[in-house]
Amino acid sequence: MSGDLAAAARRAAELRRGIEQANYEYYVLDAPTLSDADYDRLLRELKALEGAHPELVTPDSPTQRVGAEPASQLEKVRHLAPLYSLDNAFEADELRAWEDRNARIVPEVRQGGYVVELKIDGLAVALLYEDGVLVRGATRGNGTIGEDVTRNLRTIREIPLRLEGAPPRRLEGAPPRRLEVRGEVYMPISGFNQLNERRAAAGEATFANPRNAAAGSLRQLDPRITADRPLRFFGYQIQPDPEARERLPARTQAEVLDLLTRWRVPVNPERRACRELDEVIAYAAQVERDRERLDYAIDGVVVKVARLDLWPELGVVGEREPRWSVAYKFAPDLATTRLLAIEINVGRTGALNPYAVLEPVEIGGATVKLATLHNFEDIARKDLRVGDTVLVKRAGEVIPQVVAPITEKRTGQERRFAPPEKCPVCGTPVERPTDEVMAYCPNGSCPARIFWGLVHFASQDAMDIRGLGERTTQQLLDAGLVRHFADLYRIRPEDLLRLEGFAELSSRKLVEAIESSKTRPLARVLYALGIRHVGVHAAQLLARHFGTMEALAAAPPQELAAVHGIGETTAEAVAAWFGRAANRKLIERLSRAGVNLMEPVERAARLALSGLTFVITGTLPSMSRKEATAFIERHGGRVAGAVTRATDYLVAGEDPGSKLERARELGIRILSESELRQLALARADE
Ligand SMILES: [Zn+2]
Repeated sequence: MSGDLAAAARRAAELRRGIEQANYEYYVLDAPTLSDADYDRLLRELKALEGAHPELVTPDSPTQRVGAEPASQLEKVRHLAPLYSLDNAFEADELRAWEDRNARIVPEVRQGGYVVELKIDGLAVALLYEDGVLVRGATRGNGTIGEDVTRNLRTIREIPLRLEGAPPRRLEGAPPRRLEVRGEVYMPISGFNQLNERRAAAGEATFANPRNAAAGSLRQLDPRITADRPLRFFGYQIQPDPEARERLPARTQAEVLDLLTRWRVPVNPERRACRELDEVIAYAAQVERDRERLDYAIDGVVVKVARLDLWPELGVVGEREPRWSVAYKFAPDLATTRLLAIEINVGRTGALNPYAVLEPVEIGGATVKLATLHNFEDIARKDLRVGDTVLVKRAGEVIPQVVAPITEKRTGQERRFAPPEKCPVCGTPVERPTDEVMAYCPNGSCPARIFWGLVHFASQDAMDIRGLGERTTQQLLDAGLVRHFADLYRIRPEDLLRLEGFAELSSRKLVEAIESSKTRPLARVLYALGIRHVGVHAAQLLARHFGTMEALAAAPPQELAAVHGIGETTAEAVAAWFGRAANRKLIERLSRAGVNLMEPVERAARLALSGLTFVITGTLPSMSRKEATAFIERHGGRVAGAVTRATDYLVAGEDPGSKLERARELGIRILSESELRQLALARADE
């Protein structure tokens, strides 16, 4: 290893530790000590270093948490040992019966105590660590064979890529050489609600519950989509490699959880070691009462025999259900009430969203009056009729859902629901794309669509116009001040003064907020336009690739689909949108109003070598001097003739001459041709 490379390796190791420490503080301890800007700076430096020296990239590098290529399918993998399923207990008596059965096999269970953990409604996964490094992560699958989702799991920043205490820093209670950490991937309720809002705004189908959202996000073929989803993780079990016969430095489940914590695996702080079953039952009741304040959905607690040495003695029933653990389930948050009416919201994309108006009912401490009905197909499948007595479910902060009608309670007075033929707002005949469950109002000037379209345009992730919420938007529409996005930019403070609730200061402030939205980057404008299937992520990919609205508008569908991360459906939707004359006119009006339609240079810089100065010396293996210069310039870099302190990299080939010495004196990084290519690629992936 040359001195240069050794120094780079040391620096890379230092950066990796710093970044992972920051991840741990932020995600696990919830006590960050590093600013976002400093964090980004470290990550950028590490990426540049690994770009220049690809041999330094390790599987536990934080750069591996993002940007992996999409896979064509998820591979099947075999777990070290089966992931068991749990037997259920619904009543305290069933829990006591469980203990009685166990005590007949191993009398010590009654005295050994229990550990109670929360049963999170997520997705069980097994993380395989070798020599402390995360090498594989898989879904539960059928318990024996799961799906390899390693690259997706790496995007969850609180999952350690390297266990603390592993070699070379072997500490007391070090992890075995080969083991699986088992735990639950879940989506917090707050993140779930935001994700659904974002998806609804982008015209995409929403997820029914956090569990589905977590599963759908983890089983993505493209890890970048997973990286965009608010997934979290709690570990709860250690499975050493049965072949290796390594002993786990823990005697009880409580010690297992402490061990995981010491290895920096996040462990749910909500847990309790109980001496006897009555304590378990009391704790479970307390958890059930307090579950509303948790930001994740739980459906019970998991009770485990505390002493690990009793587990093999208790054994497994039917090779599937271990006797040492049981799920003690809560009664679901269900209630019955009457379905008074089915009403319809018309969204921004024209999607008709049916919802249930209910006779107010108390569920889990909240009064429920409305519930989602997803789509018309769902109503038909459940055979919901207006006037039905229905079962309603509510979980935490998730929007309540109508589960099913209680048909025995029908009186014959119930009315079947016919999906509307016409838009309930503008009367235009609705359309139903054959491959979708949704029905749409196709009228681009439908007042409901325009209203929600404007609300979306002004929203935080889009143009971020402060003060332009639903109420003000409705006022602007009612007063005839706007009919479309571009009209916003013609509003003067004196126009607003006529509106209720507006004074001089508030009028000026709104106009200023609208004015300042003109400088938003292209990605936000693109998202704000509300093109179907173009969410925040797709908008960023398109904006970075094309750079200008003009280039994007001119791109045929094949070219759009060629953008990494953009699927065919999105490509076609974008091309179709720009194909419409009314939309092209809208873009022209926005442009004339002074709205920025370009992606700023500093973002473009992430695509390439912008801001970097190179000097080339010697003979490169495959590129002539001229070609190398063109390559660097095409990726945004600058090529200079002489090595100075302002030089970022020296690209050196054979027979380099005095420039190489000069660069070494100044401590300037030296790249080979292939390292130069890597650098351009690495930065393109950011
Ligand atoms: Zn309509």
